[in-house]
Amino acid sequence: MPETLDIYLAGEWTSGTGDTHHELISPIDGSHIADVPIASPGDIDRAVTAARAATDEMRRWSAFERAELCLRIAEAIEPLIPEIARIQTLEQGKPYHSESLDDIAEANEYFSNAAEDVKRLGGEVIPTSARSKRMFTFRRPVGVWAAITPWNFPVTIPLEYIGPGLATGNAVIVKPPVHTPWALLELAKAFDAAGVPRGAVSIIPGGAEVGDALVTHDGIDAIGFTGSSATGRRIISRMGIKRSIMEMSGNGPTIVTADADVEAAAVAAVYGAYYNAGQVCCATERVIVVDDVHDAFVEAAVAASQVVNLGDPFDDATTMGPLNNEATAAKMDRHLADASERGAEILVGGGRAPGHPSDLYYDFTIVDRVPEASSLSTEESFGPVLPVIGAADDADAVAIANRTRLGLQAAVFTRSLSKAFWYTDRIRAGTVVINDSTDFWETFQPFGGAAGTDTGWGRGRIEEFTDLQTMVIELSGD
Ligand code: NAD
Repeated sequence: MPETLDIYLAGEWTSGTGDTHHELISPIDGSHIADVPIASPGDIDRAVTAARAATDEMRRWSAFERAELCLRIAEAIEPLIPEIARIQTLEQGKPYHSESLDDIAEANEYFSNAAEDVKRLGGEVIPTSARSKRMFTFRRPVGVWAAITPWNFPVTIPLEYIGPGLATGNAVIVKPPVHTPWALLELAKAFDAAGVPRGAVSIIPGGAEVGDALVTHDGIDAIGFTGSSATGRRIISRMGIKRSIMEMSGNGPTIVTADADVEAAAVAAVYGAYYNAGQVCCATERVIVVDDVHDAFVEAAVAASQVVNLGDPFDDATTMGPLNNEATAAKMDRHLADASERGAEILVGGGRAPGHPSDLYYDFTIVDRVPEASSLSTEESFGPVLPVIGAADDADAVAIANRTRLGLQAAVFTRSLSKAFWYTDRIRAGTVVINDSTDFWETFQPFGGAAGTDTGWGRGRIEEFTDLQTMVIELSGD
């Protein structure tokens, strides 16, 4: 029997006033697991009104009171972790033991980190030209945020907005994708338990229409968007004058240089391509291998790919589950067909795996001699594929790495410290990881893109949830 879910709206659990719902279908076996209501325009207005009241109240709290709230949320999440992780696997498809549990186990860090950061978020005393004036700055909440989030990390990405948002006194209305809202709704029980002010967080699942209603809503002050560059461009063209954090697609290169530990590079590249079935913004999307080590790398990558065990994501032995949705699988089909037509050579895998309970199980795939013009190289594939692209030397490798607008996270394998800096100085990416996977991630890591794939984020994370307010005092009578 599918579960009937309520949405979390203005501090209440409700079916809303809309007359539509969405059927949640598990990618694991195509079964109908739950029904979720879609918020009506009236529900959205209610969420915005309650959010405004909540941020007006929290604006007056001290930073230490807001930090306390975040710590209470972190504590309230703990007992919910196994159930949130189970639901995440059910609706998203990632392996329960090796991925989903780890993912959710760090959910509390988004709140405990924000609690630490906000206590150290001070203003400045600004020197003035007049002797009789004093000038100070304060950090104030921006107000009401709409966080529009993707399905690949359905819980933790919304928390990147909710944690620092609440810590700085904002209210956050999250719009998760219509087909992966359940695990986040389960986590919202922690907001009730921790005493989050009514309306400071609402979770209203929906598709592009609900997203657009938030983006264009006059009561929303700021947009937090994590998703594809195509949707990001649409949102920017629709949002008018609103603050925003836009985190978009990646086409992460791993560069294997002539002096690399080739086996370590192969293990890391395979991991970066199969973790979460490749559905990660900083996945290893391209492996650029300097010609001297090409044959050794390819041999090592084929051997390393034995670690991939495609199957039921609730089985302990499984290291890769199904893809989340048909659009992603169809994109993989297109990219592989295009690369083959252009002369690339498929060494491992190459398509959908038969004999599974849904059509979304995709074989881990290694493709060699991928021409740079193929979509496997020029676009984000977002699936379990490791494309190998040849480079004549280091200069050629950097040039290939930089031929993208999606410069999120890159990796370089080298034994030379000076070469590590040489590459880092030249690669246009938000992060360059030396001798590890592009898929490296910590909750406190400054994270953002270069070359046009984000606007903001990074070390200033908590500051980006604030407006700078200046106070000027005339000390008349001096
Ligand atoms: P998507 O752009 O299709 O959807 C993202 C969100 O936008 C969803 O909630 C969706 O319902 C909503 N949306 C879609 N159309 C909209 C519209 N017209 N107006 C308002 N909202 C709209 O992305 P996706 O397929 O869910 O996620 C995968 C993408 O996200 C990949 O490109 C991946 O690289 C990127 N991503 C980036 C990061 C990062 O930190 N840079 C992290 C995770 C995922």
